[in-house]
Amino acid sequence: MSLYKKITDELNKLEYAGALRKLRTVADRNGQMIEVNGKIYLNCSSNDYLGIATDKDLKKEFFESLDLNSIEISSSSSRLLSGNFEIFEKVEKQLAELFGKPAALYFSSGYHMNAGFFPAVYGKGDLIVADKLVHASIIDGIMLSKADYLRYRHLDYDQLEEMLEKDREKYENCVIVTESVFSMDGDIANLEKIVEIAKKYNCETYVDEAHAVGCFGEKGAGICEEENLTQLDFIAGTVGKGLGGIGAFIACESVVRDYLINRCRSFIFTTALPPINLEWTSFVLSKLQWLNDRREKLREKHQLLRKLLQDKGLETKGNSQIVPVIIGEDEKTLKIADKLLANGIFAPAIRPPTVRKGTSRLRFSLTADFSLEQVKFVAQNVFGALK
Ligand code: PMP
Repeated sequence: MSLYKKITDELNKLEYAGALRKLRTVADRNGQMIEVNGKIYLNCSSNDYLGIATDKDLKKEFFESLDLNSIEISSSSSRLLSGNFEIFEKVEKQLAELFGKPAALYFSSGYHMNAGFFPAVYGKGDLIVADKLVHASIIDGIMLSKADYLRYRHLDYDQLEEMLEKDREKYENCVIVTESVFSMDGDIANLEKIVEIAKKYNCETYVDEAHAVGCFGEKGAGICEEENLTQLDFIAGTVGKGLGGIGAFIACESVVRDYLINRCRSFIFTTALPPINLEWTSFVLSKLQWLNDRREKLREKHQLLRKLLQDKGLETKGNSQIVPVIIGEDEKTLKIADKLLANGIFAPAIRPPTVRKGTSRLRFSLTADFSLEQVKFVAQNVFGALK
């Protein structure tokens, strides 16, 4: 069969199964609304949790602070060649300080970070033990590594311990991997427990704070800060969500940073991000600890949405700005998402392979900019669509 026929058949099968994914084009947005295909929707699918990326005043202040004649819009090289502008080192110092670690390394994206870290640091003779629901980028990193891996049931630390009890001794190095706020369930790992287990079994800890950075902690340094946990070995986070920019980072020991610079292929073999993006990250980081009012507003909104859904007997999970409503079947989930869309609510259905089969869901990710009325509007429409 020719390649073109093969992939066309595959696409037709996906379409028939109602599982075909298509890109939608965004024309405009603000902190709450998004314009797609000429129609305006309430955007319940943004990761701009604090409304930073859409804040016109912040952007104005940022652009006014730049020298437009000298600002670089491309780094034109990888960081190991001629792309390592001063701003990278400045941002890495800011991040190390924020997370209470000696060093930090900036990556082009969370995908680059997770896909590159594990094969660089763990190999044959090592073990990686990860929560079942960690993000695809972590899974890809684990697959690229030559280490053995095990996955424990989501948030099941008894099972994690059982696995380590049984297998830890067979391996040289072992790392426990989790997200702090889980991207599709919105629930939160018990990092204190993980640190305790890691200590007992002589493991390192890797926590991806992608959905927590900016949103949790007095200074916005995520769940690690909120729980006062500096013992974590590798604190990873992304910049494209709560921080309103682009990129990702691992805060760690200096020797790990040096090692990654030498061994992490997704860091080495790619063009460094444009310095202007790093300038923005630096600007946002300088404001982050003063954004407690936005963190508080965000908390108020997600707590209200959960309460409204639960009061009507709907099952939702977690305690973060990511509020899932598990529907189960793909087709039913799609129908409900379509009804919401028709009523002006943009909350696409999340289906396999992004989530496990049989757990298709509506995933509402809120931003601090939502009004309480908008949150109530969402809840009412969910009830309506379920009837
Ligand atoms: N880690 C987690 C937990 C994520 O949810 C995501 C993106 N959704 C990533 C990493 C990837 O980050 P990026 O979008 O910057 O590639």
